[in-house]
Amino acid sequence: MTTTPELGLPMPVPAAEGLPTRVRIHEVGARDGLQNEKATVPTETKAEFIHRLAAAGLTTIEVTSFVHPKWVPQLADAENLFPLVRDAAPHLPVLVPNERGLDRALSLGATRIAVFASATESFAKANLNRTVDEALAMFEPVVTRAKAQDAHVRGYLSMCFGDPWEGPVPLPQVVRVCRALLDMGCDELSLGDTIGVATPGHVQALLTALNDEGVPTPSLGVHFHDTYGQALSNTLAALQHGVTTVDASAGGLGGCPYAKSATGNLATEDLVWMLTGLGIDTGVDLGLLTATSVWMAGQLGRPSPSRTVRALSHKE
Ligand code: MG
Repeated sequence: MTTTPELGLPMPVPAAEGLPTRVRIHEVGARDGLQNEKATVPTETKAEFIHRLAAAGLTTIEVTSFVHPKWVPQLADAENLFPLVRDAAPHLPVLVPNERGLDRALSLGATRIAVFASATESFAKANLNRTVDEALAMFEPVVTRAKAQDAHVRGYLSMCFGDPWEGPVPLPQVVRVCRALLDMGCDELSLGDTIGVATPGHVQALLTALNDEGVPTPSLGVHFHDTYGQALSNTLAALQHGVTTVDASAGGLGGCPYAKSATGNLATEDLVWMLTGLGIDTGVDLGLLTATSVWMAGQLGRPSPSRTVRALSHKE
């Protein structure tokens, strides 16, 4: 790992016992982050952002979403953006809500897609205007057709821990939807703490419940929000359980639309700082990544909420 020395890094230590030696960061800033920002970023700026994230060492960069532009105007340029970044990084997943979205993504050469399910009825209704089972039925042909084309399929699962309308989400309810997504052919799942209410104990309980029902840990990624300041603690709990795929958003882009809080996605820089300090390899150059987030904050006209970005950029 090459890093600009003056930016500073935590003290290097050998990988701690019981933790993975390497973690794959699934970077969601360009999609989940920008989708939840008030400002709409020009296509060329998004392309530069993605290329800079790749240059910083991120290998899985979610690009955009092929939803109807009416629903997510910030990502209405998916058709124009994807060709500009198609070779930027080894893995460039895109979100597809339905078969029409899948057709659009595949026609542009996408080889990794993601579908977006909910663990709760309230959020399925709010986000997809369907019941949980109706949404799963909608995804089934999407996943089947994507697999037939050799695409890698990620299944996002929202509200795995708490739901703004329903409160804490019972573990069996989450396990059931996870099983359904894997059974229809998803290669990996991303367990989303959409309102950021999870705690490390809850994370361990859910991962154990999933294992008990035959969901293997290597198929699981985690997606934490920092609304209550628990995102890194929850990540550490997941790593101790054997999880090696962690979602994060460069600079902490994207507030939390359901909690009216400035802190949404776990910031990639905060994650890299912790992992580096644990002796866990990410392949990410923290200096380059921080510079990218400082640049993007300038494009958005507001400072990054990432503590690490703030600390490192104030050092300069
Ligand atoms: Mg998120």
